[in-house]
Amino acid sequence: MRRAKILATLGPATSTESVITSLLEAGVNAVRINMSHGTHDEHESSISHARSAAQRLGMPLAVLVDLSGPKIRIRSFEDGKTIDLVPGAHFTITSRDIVGDETIVSTNFSELPKSLRPDAKILINDGAIELRVERIEGTEIYCKVVIGGPLSARKGINLPGTHLPIPSMTEKDHADLEWAMSHNVDFIALSFVRTADDCRGVKELIKKLNKRTMGCALLVAKIEKAEAIENLDDIIEATDGVMVARGDLGVETTVEHVPVYQKRIIEKAIANDRFVITATQMLQSMIDSPNPTRAEASDVANAVWDGSDAVMLSGETAAGSYPLETIRTMARIIDAAETIKPEQLKKPVKYSLPPSGRTSQALCRAAAYAAKETMTDKVAVFTESGLMARRMSSFRSGLQTFGLTTSEDAYNQLALIWGVNPFLHEMPWATQEMLRIGERTLLEAQVVEHNERVIMMAGRLSGLGLSSSVIVWSIGETTPMR
Ligand code: PEP
Repeated sequence: MRRAKILATLGPATSTESVITSLLEAGVNAVRINMSHGTHDEHESSISHARSAAQRLGMPLAVLVDLSGPKIRIRSFEDGKTIDLVPGAHFTITSRDIVGDETIVSTNFSELPKSLRPDAKILINDGAIELRVERIEGTEIYCKVVIGGPLSARKGINLPGTHLPIPSMTEKDHADLEWAMSHNVDFIALSFVRTADDCRGVKELIKKLNKRTMGCALLVAKIEKAEAIENLDDIIEATDGVMVARGDLGVETTVEHVPVYQKRIIEKAIANDRFVITATQMLQSMIDSPNPTRAEASDVANAVWDGSDAVMLSGETAAGSYPLETIRTMARIIDAAETIKPEQLKKPVKYSLPPSGRTSQALCRAAAYAAKETMTDKVAVFTESGLMARRMSSFRSGLQTFGLTTSEDAYNQLALIWGVNPFLHEMPWATQEMLRIGERTLLEAQVVEHNERVIMMAGRLSGLGLSSSVIVWSIGETTPMR
Protein backbone atom coordinates (compact mmCIF):
# COMPACT_ATOMS: atom_id res chain seq x y z
CA MET A 1 0.00 0.00 0.00
CA ARG A 2 1.29 3.43 -0.98
CA ARG A 3 1.43 5.67 2.09
CA ALA A 4 2.08 9.12 0.66
CA LYS A 5 -0.95 10.17 -1.36
CA ILE A 6 -1.28 11.85 -4.75
CA LEU A 7 -3.33 15.04 -5.15
CA ALA A 8 -3.96 15.98 -8.79
CA THR A 9 -5.32 19.33 -10.01
CA LEU A 10 -8.11 18.92 -12.55
CA GLY A 11 -8.37 21.21 -15.55
CA PRO A 12 -8.89 21.25 -19.30
CA ALA A 13 -6.48 18.30 -19.79
CA THR A 14 -8.40 16.17 -17.30
CA SER A 15 -12.03 17.18 -17.60
CA THR A 16 -13.71 14.00 -18.87
CA GLU A 17 -14.84 11.05 -16.77
CA SER A 18 -12.78 8.58 -18.79
CA VAL A 19 -9.53 10.53 -18.29
CA ILE A 20 -10.27 11.00 -14.59
CA THR A 21 -11.00 7.26 -14.28
CA SER A 22 -7.55 6.50 -15.76
CA LEU A 23 -5.94 8.93 -13.31
CA LEU A 24 -7.63 7.24 -10.35
CA GLU A 25 -6.60 3.80 -11.60
CA ALA A 26 -3.03 5.08 -11.92
CA GLY A 27 -2.92 6.19 -8.28
CA VAL A 28 -4.69 9.52 -7.69
CA ASN A 29 -6.22 9.70 -4.19
CA ALA A 30 -7.53 13.25 -4.22
CA VAL A 31 -8.40 15.94 -6.76
CA ARG A 32 -7.91 19.68 -6.50
CA ILE A 33 -10.25 22.23 -8.01
CA ASN A 34 -8.34 25.47 -8.53
CA MET A 35 -10.76 28.42 -8.25
CA SER A 36 -8.20 30.75 -9.87
CA HIS A 37 -9.27 29.31 -13.22
CA GLY A 38 -12.50 28.08 -14.81
CA THR A 39 -16.18 28.57 -14.02
CA HIS A 40 -18.47 27.04 -11.39
CA ASP A 41 -20.12 24.98 -14.14
CA GLU A 42 -16.78 23.56 -15.27
CA HIS A 43 -15.79 22.78 -11.68
CA GLU A 44 -19.15 21.20 -10.95
CA SER A 45 -18.72 18.87 -13.90
CA SER A 46 -15.14 17.96 -12.80
CA ILE A 47 -16.32 17.11 -9.27
CA SER A 48 -19.23 15.07 -10.51
CA HIS A 49 -17.05 13.12 -13.02
CA ALA A 50 -14.43 12.49 -10.35
CA ARG A 51 -16.93 11.29 -7.78
CA SER A 52 -18.75 9.01 -10.15
CA ALA A 53 -15.42 7.57 -11.43
CA ALA A 54 -14.37 6.84 -7.84
CA GLN A 55 -17.72 5.25 -7.07
CA ARG A 56 -17.52 2.98 -10.11
CA LEU A 57 -13.99 1.93 -9.12
CA GLY A 58 -15.11 1.38 -5.51
CA MET A 59 -12.42 3.64 -4.09
CA PRO A 60 -12.40 6.68 -1.79
CA LEU A 61 -11.60 10.07 -3.31
CA ALA A 62 -11.08 13.38 -1.56
CA VAL A 63 -12.08 16.65 -3.22
CA LEU A 64 -10.11 19.79 -2.34
CA VAL A 65 -11.27 23.25 -3.40
CA ASP A 66 -8.47 25.81 -3.53
CA LEU A 67 -9.71 29.40 -3.02
CA SER A 68 -7.81 32.02 -5.04
CA GLY A 69 -7.32 34.39 -2.09
CA PRO A 70 -6.35 38.04 -2.47
CA LYS A 71 -4.14 37.53 -5.51
CA ILE A 72 -3.17 40.85 -7.07
CA ARG A 73 -3.00 40.83 -10.85
CA ILE A 74 -2.33 43.12 -13.76
CA ARG A 75 -5.23 43.61 -16.16
CA SER A 76 -4.99 43.36 -19.98
CA PHE A 77 -3.14 44.95 -22.88
CA GLU A 78 -4.73 46.40 -26.04
CA ASP A 79 -5.67 43.82 -28.69
CA GLY A 80 -4.76 40.98 -26.28
CA LYS A 81 -1.09 41.82 -26.92
CA THR A 82 1.99 40.51 -25.11
CA ILE A 83 4.35 43.41 -24.46
CA ASP A 84 8.10 43.24 -24.06
CA LEU A 85 9.64 44.96 -21.03
CA VAL A 86 13.25 46.08 -21.44
CA PRO A 87 15.58 46.40 -18.41
CA GLY A 88 16.12 50.04 -17.49
CA ALA A 89 12.87 51.18 -19.15
CA HIS A 90 10.12 53.07 -17.30
CA PHE A 91 6.80 51.30 -16.73
CA THR A 92 3.71 52.41 -14.82
CA ILE A 93 1.15 50.41 -12.89
CA THR A 94 -2.13 52.25 -12.38
CA SER A 95 -5.22 51.59 -10.29
CA ARG A 96 -7.32 53.31 -13.00
CA ASP A 97 -9.28 50.83 -15.10
CA ILE A 98 -7.57 51.26 -18.48
CA VAL A 99 -6.35 48.98 -21.27
CA GLY A 100 -2.56 48.68 -21.07
CA ASP A 101 0.27 49.20 -23.58
CA GLU A 102 4.11 49.15 -23.62
CA THR A 103 4.27 51.91 -20.98
CA ILE A 104 1.42 51.21 -18.57
CA VAL A 105 -0.86 48.51 -17.19
CA SER A 106 -3.82 48.50 -14.82
CA THR A 107 -4.10 46.42 -11.61
CA ASN A 108 -7.18 44.78 -10.06
CA PHE A 109 -6.18 46.06 -6.59
CA SER A 110 -7.28 49.67 -6.22
CA GLU A 111 -5.34 50.19 -2.96
CA LEU A 112 -1.98 49.23 -4.50
CA PRO A 113 -0.62 52.81 -4.86
CA LYS A 114 -1.39 53.46 -1.16
CA SER A 115 0.30 50.20 -0.07
CA LEU A 116 3.67 50.75 -1.73
CA ARG A 117 6.68 52.95 -0.92
CA PRO A 118 9.47 54.21 -3.24
CA ASP A 119 12.16 51.54 -3.72
CA ALA A 120 9.70 48.63 -3.11
CA LYS A 121 10.14 45.51 -5.24
CA ILE A 122 7.28 44.43 -7.54
CA LEU A 123 7.44 40.95 -9.06
CA ILE A 124 5.13 39.91 -11.91
CA ASN A 125 4.49 36.49 -13.45
CA ASP A 126 6.00 34.37 -10.65
CA GLY A 127 9.03 36.63 -10.42
CA ALA A 128 9.94 36.49 -14.13
CA ILE A 129 9.58 40.31 -14.28
CA GLU A 130 10.99 42.60 -11.60
CA LEU A 131 10.17 46.28 -11.21
CA ARG A 132 11.47 48.79 -8.67
CA VAL A 133 9.12 51.60 -7.52
CA GLU A 134 10.52 55.07 -8.28
CA ARG A 135 7.64 57.27 -7.10
CA ILE A 136 3.91 57.16 -6.47
CA GLU A 137 1.50 59.91 -7.52
CA GLY A 138 -2.18 59.34 -6.76
CA THR A 139 -3.31 56.34 -8.77
CA GLU A 140 0.02 55.91 -10.59
CA ILE A 141 3.01 53.80 -9.51
CA TYR A 142 6.02 54.83 -11.59
CA CYS A 143 8.57 52.02 -11.83
CA LYS A 144 11.87 51.10 -13.46
CA VAL A 145 12.23 47.65 -15.07
CA VAL A 146 14.96 45.64 -13.31
CA ILE A 147 14.34 42.28 -15.00
CA GLY A 148 12.48 42.48 -18.29
CA GLY A 149 10.82 40.02 -20.62
CA PRO A 150 7.48 39.29 -22.27
CA LEU A 151 4.36 40.18 -20.28
CA SER A 152 0.77 39.21 -21.10
CA ALA A 153 -2.61 39.91 -19.47
CA ARG A 154 -3.74 38.84 -15.97
CA LYS A 155 -0.34 37.82 -14.64
CA GLY A 156 0.01 37.72 -10.85
CA ILE A 157 1.82 40.42 -8.86
CA ASN A 158 3.89 39.58 -5.77
CA LEU A 159 5.18 42.21 -3.38
CA PRO A 160 7.84 40.64 -1.15
CA GLY A 161 8.46 42.74 1.93
CA THR A 162 5.25 44.80 1.58
CA HIS A 163 2.44 44.29 4.08
CA LEU A 164 -0.92 44.56 2.33
CA PRO A 165 -3.95 45.84 4.25
CA ILE A 166 -6.35 43.41 2.56
CA PRO A 167 -8.72 40.81 3.98
CA SER A 168 -7.69 37.16 3.56
CA MET A 169 -10.95 36.38 1.72
CA THR A 170 -12.12 38.39 -1.28
CA GLU A 171 -15.77 38.64 -2.38
CA LYS A 172 -15.03 35.97 -4.97
CA ASP A 173 -13.58 33.69 -2.26
CA HIS A 174 -16.77 34.06 -0.20
CA ALA A 175 -18.91 33.08 -3.19
CA ASP A 176 -16.54 30.21 -4.08
CA LEU A 177 -16.56 28.94 -0.49
CA GLU A 178 -20.36 28.86 -0.42
CA TRP A 179 -20.35 27.04 -3.74
CA ALA A 180 -17.74 24.52 -2.52
CA MET A 181 -19.60 23.83 0.72
CA SER A 182 -22.86 23.31 -1.18
CA HIS A 183 -20.98 20.54 -3.06
CA ASN A 184 -19.92 18.98 0.24
CA VAL A 185 -16.19 19.02 -0.59
CA ASP A 186 -13.65 17.49 1.80
CA PHE A 187 -10.96 20.18 2.00
CA ILE A 188 -10.88 23.95 1.57
CA ALA A 189 -7.46 25.48 0.85
CA LEU A 190 -6.93 29.16 1.65
CA SER A 191 -4.32 31.03 -0.40
CA PHE A 192 -1.96 33.72 0.92
CA VAL A 193 -2.60 33.02 4.60
CA ARG A 194 -0.72 35.54 6.74
CA THR A 195 -1.90 34.99 10.30
CA ALA A 196 -3.74 32.49 12.50
CA ASP A 197 -6.73 34.87 12.44
CA ASP A 198 -7.04 34.30 8.67
CA CYS A 199 -7.46 30.57 9.43
CA ARG A 200 -9.83 31.06 12.36
CA GLY A 201 -12.08 33.29 10.22
CA VAL A 202 -12.40 30.72 7.43
CA LYS A 203 -12.85 27.82 9.85
CA GLU A 204 -15.81 29.70 11.37
CA LEU A 205 -17.33 30.17 7.90
CA ILE A 206 -16.78 26.49 7.04
CA LYS A 207 -18.50 25.48 10.29
CA LYS A 208 -21.46 27.74 9.52
CA LEU A 209 -21.86 26.32 6.03
CA ASN A 210 -21.22 22.70 7.08
CA LYS A 211 -23.92 20.20 6.10
CA ARG A 212 -22.30 17.03 7.46
CA THR A 213 -23.75 15.29 10.49
CA MET A 214 -20.29 14.17 11.58
CA GLY A 215 -17.06 16.11 10.87
CA CYS A 216 -16.53 19.01 8.53
CA ALA A 217 -14.53 20.10 5.49
CA LEU A 218 -10.96 20.55 6.70
CA LEU A 219 -8.97 23.75 6.27
CA VAL A 220 -5.63 23.73 4.45
CA ALA A 221 -3.57 26.87 5.11
CA LYS A 222 -1.36 27.53 2.09
CA ILE A 223 2.05 28.67 3.32
CA GLU A 224 3.29 30.95 0.56
CA LYS A 225 4.15 34.27 2.21
CA ALA A 226 7.06 35.39 4.38
CA GLU A 227 4.49 36.54 6.97
CA ALA A 228 3.10 32.99 7.14
CA ILE A 229 6.59 31.64 7.82
CA GLU A 230 6.97 34.19 10.64
CA ASN A 231 3.59 33.14 12.09
CA LEU A 232 3.96 29.43 11.33
CA ASP A 233 3.42 28.08 14.85
CA ASP A 234 0.20 30.04 15.38
CA ILE A 235 -1.09 29.19 11.90
CA ILE A 236 -0.46 25.47 12.47
CA GLU A 237 -2.33 25.72 15.76
CA ALA A 238 -5.33 27.36 14.03
CA THR A 239 -5.62 25.14 10.93
CA ASP A 240 -6.34 21.46 10.21
CA GLY A 241 -3.53 21.07 7.71
CA VAL A 242 -1.05 23.04 5.63
CA MET A 243 0.25 23.18 2.09
CA VAL A 244 3.84 24.00 1.24
CA ALA A 245 2.81 26.18 -1.72
CA ARG A 246 6.27 26.40 -3.21
CA GLY A 247 5.28 28.45 -6.27
CA ASP A 248 4.38 31.69 -4.53
CA LEU A 249 6.61 30.88 -1.54
CA GLY A 250 9.64 30.97 -3.85
CA VAL A 251 8.59 34.38 -5.16
CA GLU A 252 7.54 35.91 -1.84
CA THR A 253 10.74 34.71 -0.11
CA THR A 254 13.70 33.35 -2.08
CA VAL A 255 14.04 30.21 -4.13
CA GLU A 256 16.98 28.95 -2.05
CA HIS A 257 14.90 29.11 1.13
CA VAL A 258 12.05 26.97 -0.26
CA PRO A 259 13.70 23.61 0.68
CA VAL A 260 14.55 24.94 4.16
CA TYR A 261 10.97 26.09 4.74
CA GLN A 262 9.58 22.86 3.26
CA LYS A 263 11.44 20.80 5.88
CA ARG A 264 10.46 23.16 8.70
CA ILE A 265 6.77 23.30 7.72
CA ILE A 266 6.44 19.52 7.32
CA GLU A 267 8.21 18.77 10.60
CA LYS A 268 6.11 21.25 12.58
CA ALA A 269 2.86 20.13 10.95
CA ILE A 270 3.40 16.45 11.78
CA ALA A 271 4.60 17.22 15.30
CA ASN A 272 1.32 19.07 15.88
CA ASP A 273 -0.96 16.39 14.35
CA ARG A 274 -1.65 18.39 11.18
CA PHE A 275 -1.63 16.91 7.69
CA VAL A 276 0.69 18.47 5.11
CA ILE A 277 0.68 18.69 1.32
CA THR A 278 3.80 19.52 -0.70
CA ALA A 279 2.94 21.34 -3.91
CA THR A 280 4.11 22.90 -7.15
CA GLN A 281 6.55 22.05 -9.92
CA MET A 282 7.01 18.51 -8.61
CA LEU A 283 7.10 17.05 -12.13
CA GLN A 284 6.96 20.36 -14.02
CA SER A 285 8.86 19.19 -17.10
CA MET A 286 6.17 16.53 -17.67
CA ILE A 287 3.81 19.30 -18.80
CA ASP A 288 5.58 18.92 -22.16
CA SER A 289 7.53 15.69 -21.85
CA PRO A 290 6.57 12.06 -21.09
CA ASN A 291 9.59 11.68 -18.79
CA PRO A 292 10.63 13.59 -15.65
CA THR A 293 14.07 14.99 -14.96
CA ARG A 294 16.26 13.19 -12.40
CA ALA A 295 16.01 16.28 -10.19
CA GLU A 296 12.20 16.10 -10.22
CA ALA A 297 12.24 12.40 -9.28
CA SER A 298 14.55 13.27 -6.37
CA ASP A 299 12.31 16.17 -5.36
CA VAL A 300 9.20 13.97 -5.14
CA ALA A 301 11.11 11.30 -3.20
CA ASN A 302 12.51 13.89 -0.79
CA ALA A 303 9.04 15.35 -0.19
CA VAL A 304 7.90 11.81 0.68
CA TRP A 305 10.86 11.27 3.01
CA ASP A 306 10.27 14.68 4.60
CA GLY A 307 6.89 13.23 5.64
CA SER A 308 4.32 14.82 3.28
CA ASP A 309 0.85 13.33 3.57
CA ALA A 310 0.34 14.10 -0.10
CA VAL A 311 2.32 15.39 -3.04
CA MET A 312 0.46 17.65 -5.44
CA LEU A 313 0.44 18.14 -9.20
CA SER A 314 -0.78 21.41 -10.73
CA GLY A 315 -0.22 22.29 -14.41
CA GLU A 316 1.10 18.76 -15.02
CA THR A 317 -2.40 17.29 -14.73
CA ALA A 318 -4.57 20.39 -15.24
CA ALA A 319 -3.17 21.54 -18.56
CA GLY A 320 -0.22 19.29 -19.47
CA SER A 321 0.15 16.98 -22.46
CA TYR A 322 0.91 13.87 -20.34
CA PRO A 323 -1.39 13.81 -17.29
CA LEU A 324 -1.63 10.01 -17.10
CA GLU A 325 2.10 9.45 -17.57
CA THR A 326 2.68 12.05 -14.83
CA ILE A 327 0.51 10.17 -12.32
CA ARG A 328 2.10 6.83 -13.20
CA THR A 329 5.54 8.37 -12.81
CA MET A 330 4.67 9.95 -9.49
CA ALA A 331 3.23 6.67 -8.20
CA ARG A 332 6.40 4.79 -9.19
CA ILE A 333 8.63 7.39 -7.52
CA ILE A 334 6.61 7.18 -4.29
CA ASP A 335 6.70 3.36 -4.38
CA ALA A 336 10.47 3.40 -4.81
CA ALA A 337 10.90 6.06 -2.09
CA GLU A 338 8.79 4.03 0.32
CA THR A 339 11.09 1.00 0.06
CA ILE A 340 13.07 3.05 2.59
CA LYS A 341 11.12 2.49 5.82
CA PRO A 342 10.21 5.34 8.19
CA GLU A 343 12.51 3.93 10.89
CA GLN A 344 15.47 4.13 8.47
CA LEU A 345 14.81 7.84 7.97
CA LYS A 346 15.67 8.58 11.60
CA LYS A 347 12.75 10.97 12.04
CA PRO A 348 11.73 12.01 15.54
CA VAL A 349 9.20 9.38 16.58
CA LYS A 350 6.27 10.31 18.75
CA TYR A 351 6.77 7.20 20.95
CA SER A 352 9.48 9.04 22.76
CA LEU A 353 7.75 12.42 23.16
CA PRO A 354 6.99 13.62 26.68
CA PRO A 355 3.39 12.97 27.83
CA SER A 356 0.89 15.39 26.24
CA GLY A 357 -2.09 14.68 28.48
CA ARG A 358 -4.19 13.96 25.39
CA THR A 359 -6.34 10.81 25.10
CA SER A 360 -5.70 10.47 21.37
CA GLN A 361 -1.95 10.50 21.94
CA ALA A 362 -2.31 7.86 24.67
CA LEU A 363 -4.34 5.62 22.35
CA CYS A 364 -1.93 6.00 19.42
CA ARG A 365 1.04 5.27 21.67
CA ALA A 366 -0.74 2.26 23.19
CA ALA A 367 -1.67 0.94 19.73
CA ALA A 368 1.89 1.31 18.48
CA TYR A 369 3.31 -0.47 21.54
CA ALA A 370 0.67 -3.23 21.37
CA ALA A 371 1.51 -3.79 17.70
CA LYS A 372 5.21 -4.04 18.48
CA GLU A 373 4.64 -6.40 21.39
CA THR A 374 2.27 -8.68 19.46
CA MET A 375 4.37 -8.46 16.31
CA THR A 376 1.74 -7.13 13.97
CA ASP A 377 2.16 -4.22 11.61
CA LYS A 378 -1.56 -3.54 11.14
CA VAL A 379 -3.92 -1.27 13.01
CA ALA A 380 -7.61 -0.75 12.26
CA VAL A 381 -9.07 2.52 13.54
CA PHE A 382 -12.83 2.85 14.04
CA THR A 383 -13.58 6.47 13.40
CA GLU A 384 -16.76 8.52 13.01
CA SER A 385 -15.41 11.80 11.70
CA GLY A 386 -11.99 10.52 10.60
CA LEU A 387 -10.20 12.41 13.40
CA MET A 388 -8.79 9.35 15.22
CA ALA A 389 -7.43 7.89 11.96
CA ARG A 390 -5.77 11.25 11.26
CA ARG A 391 -4.23 11.22 14.73
CA MET A 392 -2.91 7.69 14.18
CA SER A 393 -1.49 8.77 10.82
CA SER A 394 0.35 11.76 12.25
CA PHE A 395 1.85 9.46 14.88
CA ARG A 396 3.84 8.10 11.86
CA SER A 397 4.14 4.72 13.55
CA GLY A 398 4.79 2.96 10.24
CA LEU A 399 1.86 0.59 10.94
CA GLN A 400 -0.46 -0.20 8.05
CA THR A 401 -3.52 1.80 9.07
CA PHE A 402 -7.08 0.94 8.07
CA GLY A 403 -9.66 3.68 8.66
CA LEU A 404 -13.00 1.99 9.34
CA THR A 405 -15.97 4.29 9.18
CA THR A 406 -19.71 4.34 8.57
CA SER A 407 -19.48 7.89 7.21
CA GLU A 408 -19.00 8.29 3.48
CA ASP A 409 -17.64 11.79 4.13
CA ALA A 410 -14.92 10.54 6.49
CA TYR A 411 -14.16 7.68 4.08
CA ASN A 412 -13.44 10.14 1.25
CA GLN A 413 -11.64 12.70 3.38
CA LEU A 414 -9.23 10.07 4.72
CA ALA A 415 -8.09 9.30 1.16
CA LEU A 416 -5.66 12.25 1.38
CA ILE A 417 -4.15 11.26 4.71
CA TRP A 418 -0.73 9.58 4.92
CA GLY A 419 -0.76 5.84 5.39
CA VAL A 420 -4.52 5.53 5.91
CA ASN A 421 -6.44 3.01 3.82
CA PRO A 422 -10.11 3.96 4.33
CA PHE A 423 -12.98 1.44 4.40
CA LEU A 424 -16.71 2.05 4.57
CA HIS A 425 -18.72 -0.37 6.70
CA GLU A 426 -22.33 -0.73 7.79
CA MET A 427 -23.59 0.74 11.06
CA PRO A 428 -23.22 -1.67 14.00
CA TRP A 429 -25.82 -1.94 16.78
CA ALA A 430 -23.38 -2.93 19.52
CA THR A 431 -19.68 -2.98 20.31
CA GLN A 432 -19.05 -6.70 19.63
CA GLU A 433 -20.99 -6.41 16.38
CA MET A 434 -18.73 -3.51 15.41
CA LEU A 435 -15.56 -5.55 15.82
CA ARG A 436 -17.07 -8.32 13.70
CA ILE A 437 -18.13 -5.85 11.02
CA GLY A 438 -14.64 -4.35 11.01
CA GLU A 439 -13.09 -7.79 10.74
CA ARG A 440 -15.42 -8.80 7.89
CA THR A 441 -14.72 -5.56 6.00
CA LEU A 442 -10.96 -6.11 6.20
CA LEU A 443 -11.26 -9.80 5.23
CA GLU A 444 -13.43 -8.95 2.22
CA ALA A 445 -10.89 -6.34 1.12
CA GLN A 446 -8.20 -9.05 1.50
CA VAL A 447 -5.99 -6.80 3.57
CA VAL A 448 -5.95 -9.25 6.51
CA GLU A 449 -6.00 -13.05 6.80
CA HIS A 450 -7.56 -15.53 9.21
CA ASN A 451 -5.65 -15.93 12.48
CA GLU A 452 -3.67 -12.78 11.81
CA ARG A 453 -3.35 -10.35 14.68
CA VAL A 454 -4.51 -6.79 14.16
CA ILE A 455 -4.71 -3.93 16.62
CA MET A 456 -8.25 -2.53 16.68
CA MET A 457 -8.65 0.91 18.17
CA ALA A 458 -11.30 3.59 18.53
CA GLY A 459 -11.50 7.17 19.71
CA ARG A 460 -14.83 8.69 20.70
CA LEU A 461 -17.76 6.78 19.21
CA SER A 462 -21.36 7.72 19.90
CA GLY A 463 -23.28 5.15 21.90
CA LEU A 464 -20.75 2.31 21.73
CA GLY A 465 -18.73 0.79 24.56
CA LEU A 466 -15.65 0.66 22.36
CA SER A 467 -14.81 4.35 22.82
CA SER A 468 -11.17 5.10 23.70
CA SER A 469 -10.05 1.47 23.37
CA VAL A 470 -7.10 -0.44 22.03
CA ILE A 471 -7.77 -4.13 21.44
CA VAL A 472 -5.46 -6.90 20.27
CA TRP A 473 -7.72 -8.79 17.91
CA SER A 474 -7.08 -12.14 16.28
CA ILE A 475 -8.91 -12.32 12.96
CA GLY A 476 -11.53 -15.10 13.03
CA GLU A 477 -11.47 -15.64 16.81
CA THR A 478 -14.64 -15.32 18.84
CA THR A 479 -13.39 -13.44 21.90
CA PRO A 480 -11.01 -10.54 21.70
CA MET A 481 -7.88 -10.51 23.87
CA ARG A 482 -7.76 -7.29 25.83
C1 PEP B 1 1.69 27.68 -5.09
O1 PEP B 1 1.85 28.90 -5.17
O2 PEP B 1 2.61 26.86 -4.98
C2 PEP B 1 0.32 27.15 -5.10
C3 PEP B 1 0.05 25.89 -4.85
O3 PEP B 1 -0.69 28.04 -5.34
P1 PEP B 1 -1.44 28.28 -6.73
O4 PEP B 1 -1.24 27.04 -7.55
O5 PEP B 1 -2.84 28.51 -6.34
O6 PEP B 1 -0.75 29.46 -7.29
